[in-house]
Amino acid sequence: MLALQGDVREHVAALRRLGADVVPVRRAEELADLDGLVLPGGESTTIGRLAVRFGVMDAVRAFVAQARPVLGTCAGMVLLADRVLDGTPAQEDGSEAVGGLDVTVRRNAFGRQVDSFETTVDLAGSRVPAVLIRAPWVESVGPGVEVLARVEGSPTHGGAAGRIVAVRQGSLLATSFHPEIGDDPVVHRMFWDSVVGAAGPVVPAE
Ligand code: GLN
Repeated sequence: MLALQGDVREHVAALRRLGADVVPVRRAEELADLDGLVLPGGESTTIGRLAVRFGVMDAVRAFVAQARPVLGTCAGMVLLADRVLDGTPAQEDGSEAVGGLDVTVRRNAFGRQVDSFETTVDLAGSRVPAVLIRAPWVESVGPGVEVLARVEGSPTHGGAAGRIVAVRQGSLLATSFHPEIGDDPVVHRMFWDSVVGAAGPVVPAE
């Protein structure tokens, strides 16, 4: 867990429920032994600024570049995105971004805090609760990016209907919503499976 700011505790709890050994990391050298990394929700501008200030940003970028499993949720998705709309100059020029995920995200796309909402989306064959809090959406994806979930059509969701809220690109998994809120394990399970798959022996499918 990158533990500079944000909803670290909830992610730690969700992963521990799956049996993961989770450690908070703040410094570059702490990333060396990890099999996977979570970039939590929170405030992407703060996390990005602190990551640069703490000297951990380059280590996070290297982690992504080495195709080690990374889950980014909400602010974490903004950090992973190669292109950010409605970001700060440092997010838009990449200097306080992680990058690596070939998507364009729009920050705070669903509106301000009062417009945050909860819905249910179809993700990998499961119905998954999606809590969106000043969330980004994915406005466009590059060719190597798999769209995992979209907001479903409903008049109450207005311009949100159809927007992409979960994507995967190789070892990178990102959601606009907060899978650590509530006790639905689907997203953490997907991430954990990729961590175990990348770290351990591959069990052949039947
Ligand atoms: N709006 C925040 C950002 O851009 C994300 C909000 C969240 O993580 N809940 O960083």
